[in-house]
Amino acid sequence: MKAAFFEGPGRIEVRETPDPVCPPGGLLTRVEACAICGTDLRSFDFGSRHKGQISGHETVGTVVEVGEGVTGFKVGDRVTDCPVTCGECGFCRTGVNNLCPTRGRVGGVAQGGFAEMRPILASAVSGGFVVKVPPELPAETATLIEPLACVINGNEKLDVKPDTTVAIIGSGPIGVLHLILAKLRGAGEITMVDLKDERLDQAGPFGAGHLVNAAKTDPVARVREFTGGVGADVVVVACVSASAQAQAVEMAAKRGQVLMFAGLPESSPTATLNVNLIHYNELRLIGARSSVKRQWDLALDLLMTGKVSGPGVVNASVPLERIQEGFEMVRSGKVLKVAVKPQHHLHWAEPARGVPSEGDRQLAEAPEGAALSHPGTTSGPYSRMSPGWHASSRQMASSVENLTALALPVLRIERLASVIPTRSARSVSEILRSTMTRSSRTIIAMSSSPRP
Ligand SMILES: [Zn+2]
Ligand SMILES: [Zn+2]
Repeated sequence: MKAAFFEGPGRIEVRETPDPVCPPGGLLTRVEACAICGTDLRSFDFGSRHKGQISGHETVGTVVEVGEGVTGFKVGDRVTDCPVTCGECGFCRTGVNNLCPTRGRVGGVAQGGFAEMRPILASAVSGGFVVKVPPELPAETATLIEPLACVINGNEKLDVKPDTTVAIIGSGPIGVLHLILAKLRGAGEITMVDLKDERLDQAGPFGAGHLVNAAKTDPVARVREFTGGVGADVVVVACVSASAQAQAVEMAAKRGQVLMFAGLPESSPTATLNVNLIHYNELRLIGARSSVKRQWDLALDLLMTGKVSGPGVVNASVPLERIQEGFEMVRSGKVLKVAVKPQHHLHWAEPARGVPSEGDRQLAEAPEGAALSHPGTTSGPYSRMSPGWHASSRQMASSVENLTALALPVLRIERLASVIPTRSARSVSEILRSTMTRSSRTIIAMSSSPRP
């Protein structure tokens, strides 16, 4: 298979490597998409930590082989998996296994998703850490489950009431996901702060009230100005910056909450904060890292019900061969999130672009309670928004079943607008060609052979 290896600062090499084998008790998957995360970018920039390894942890894949003794999974299932934890320590037993000391190392270290194939460890399967992804969820959107779960873990620690004012420092995909969740909880005015106009411009359409470029103006003064001198009730630091952490404390209102969602480099983990503000203003400083399985399920639910727009956040994709370009795109700030798609040659897929897409907008206007193939079980803080997106996903799901019944393994179906019944692989490809020219929004891909 082809896989991408970190080969030192700024260098990532795509080359052939032996296909991984299906672990006994585990699964072997063909990677559909793996998104580039901020931590991947840091490994890419600084090189050493993951040298010679295949990284990528925001992965969705299709099961191509089921290990001995595995029940509950079959070939063709789409899956993603969260970090494996021991299940026995005090953290695991009390539902905070994101703090388990053995997190991510139980049963071995899993190979990442910047590759054509990826094994899933037996410990992930037996421990219940594998999440099934419904067929109608686009692969790019499914890559958001992991980062969204982490953002949920941070967001759940905050008290957000209607009219709570929020400031988010860092307008990348994590900051934008924080913005979306804060809005779902009914927050009042939200200010996004970043050093790059390109990144701020991308956050605007998600409903930010104010965009502040901290390279050009004092973000603390601006946030105070927007809040009548009071400061923000909630401040989220979604970037790796000691000065942003210091500013967060300064822009918080009395009794405000400051969420430290990002750490600092291991080599310089210290920030200078005005502790008097914490003391006299009764601020709450809150940390958050990683996520637990429950939050992965919730993230999937938010994406399935369209409360979080996948195509809006993952707004570019590259084939595996061009992964280096993907990293440059992430660094430029001109795209929010890039999905790497190793099976690019197998399907006709246009990169998702635009925030949000016209399709998203149309679907968002669908009547409340429209048919949803996903039960929409979201409860708790994110339940106030009505479902709308994927109004026709029940029809989509049955169309996928029809195609499967024709013994044409459906590799992926993205934003499927229509399926025309057919009886042969040849006519399927003819239809595909005609629908692709008729409407580029009809994106469908399939193959009659499991691997080329
Ligand atoms: Zn990530
Ligand atoms: Zn544990």
